[in-house]
Amino acid sequence: MIDTIKTKRDIRKLQLDELKAFFVEHGDKPFRAQQVYEWLWQKSCKDFDQMTNISLSTRELLKEHFVINHIHVDNMQRSEDGTIKNAVKLHDGLIVESVLIPTEKRITACVSSQVGCSLDCKFCATARLKRMRNLNADEIYDQVAVIKEQSELFFGRPLTNIVFMGMGEPLLNYNNVVAAIDKITSPKGLNMAPRRLTVSTVGVAKMIKKMADDEVKFNLAVSLHAAINKTRSSIMPINDTNNLEELAEAIKYWYAKRKKKVTYEYVVWKGINDDMEHAQALLKFCKIVPSKVNLIEYNSIEDDKFQQASEDTLRMYQELLESNGITARIRKSRGKDIDAACGQLANKS
Ligand code: SAH
Repeated sequence: MIDTIKTKRDIRKLQLDELKAFFVEHGDKPFRAQQVYEWLWQKSCKDFDQMTNISLSTRELLKEHFVINHIHVDNMQRSEDGTIKNAVKLHDGLIVESVLIPTEKRITACVSSQVGCSLDCKFCATARLKRMRNLNADEIYDQVAVIKEQSELFFGRPLTNIVFMGMGEPLLNYNNVVAAIDKITSPKGLNMAPRRLTVSTVGVAKMIKKMADDEVKFNLAVSLHAAINKTRSSIMPINDTNNLEELAEAIKYWYAKRKKKVTYEYVVWKGINDDMEHAQALLKFCKIVPSKVNLIEYNSIEDDKFQQASEDTLRMYQELLESNGITARIRKSRGKDIDAACGQLANKS
């Protein structure tokens, strides 16, 4: 018995062609694979018995060979501003978090790509958890499918945007992130437009170039936070091995192929980057390729070194950028009361 359980494969690890081969091998039509695939990826089906247009005997055959490993929402919290945070339990018991952010015009899913993170950004709560593993493509896809359902259930509106700004560094789990995005954007999957997806990275230069070479269609956001090497290295250790010059070169390479504005995420902290020298350096960096800036509010992770700069400083940054033709938005945090805001995802539950 135990042996049979062990040998059952997760059906969602199979490509459509492999599923077709399975059915042919068992004397069925390749078309059956198409039907099952739709149940798995369009309807996010979690149980073979829900596949009502598949005969009972075929369902039994599937159960004999496969399992559907799917995530479970272990805990769902709602913020007073409507934001929903899901603590998502994976098949091996590990937990990641994903967030639904409602605004007047959009409903955005913020999803995780890794359990924990290896990058050690000094201001981020996720950095305090060591990286435990990468998420599989289906675990990433499931977070989106769950939020899509929640969006319809709680808000009566469709999910409109997806950002990879949850736990982990998406470009260090590139293959699974891209495979999940394929399912999310495919007409055979959730059919969402790639321009509605943004992958946010700490700025892994080599992988940004790979994205350009692969001609991916989603958007790129880079967590910059400082455009002066010394400052950036002091808050983001990745900058030691992957400095601003290398990052700039990768971004140029990306823009040359993709021709789409890059978004820079930037937090302004007291005494760290709240002076004109840092603002000017950011402006200079923004001129490398067409770009826009999100000045994001700092969400405290209870570390005295980091304190949000004053509103005046934020406005100084914004005016400098805007007067030089660069769109800069000051972004207020959402879901702070439930620790669902940027940088606060750390499985407190
Ligand atoms: N690893 C990716 C995605 C995860 S973080 C990346 O670095 O982009 C998503 C965004 O939240 C990043 O811009 C990150 O720098 C920012 N962030 C991290 N900690 C934060 C905090 N305490 N307050 C505000 N933003 C934070």
